Amino acid sequence: MFDLGKQSVTVECPACHFTGQVTIKQVQIRDVVICRGCKGNIQLEDHLGTTEKAMRDLRRAIRQLQDQLAGMGRITIRL
Ligand SMILES: [Zn+2]
Repeated sequence: MFDLGKQSVTVECPACHFTGQVTIKQVQIRDVVICRGCKGNIQLEDHLGTTEKAMRDLRRAIRQLQDQLAGMGRITIRL
């Protein structure tokens, strides 16, 4: 299974609005990144729990896919 924490999300610098990519893991651990626009520190905060929700949705989607794949084992294919 792929690592959700390695998926990247786009964040915008609150000071200069320069956008950059960070990983979901970085947001979760509230990492500090340097803005490539103004060189300021950006404290990553997941105020609305957005990444948590996204990861829950993704996990659910993967589970559903697994269920579907498991279900396919019961289908008889006639040639
Ligand atoms: Zn900036």
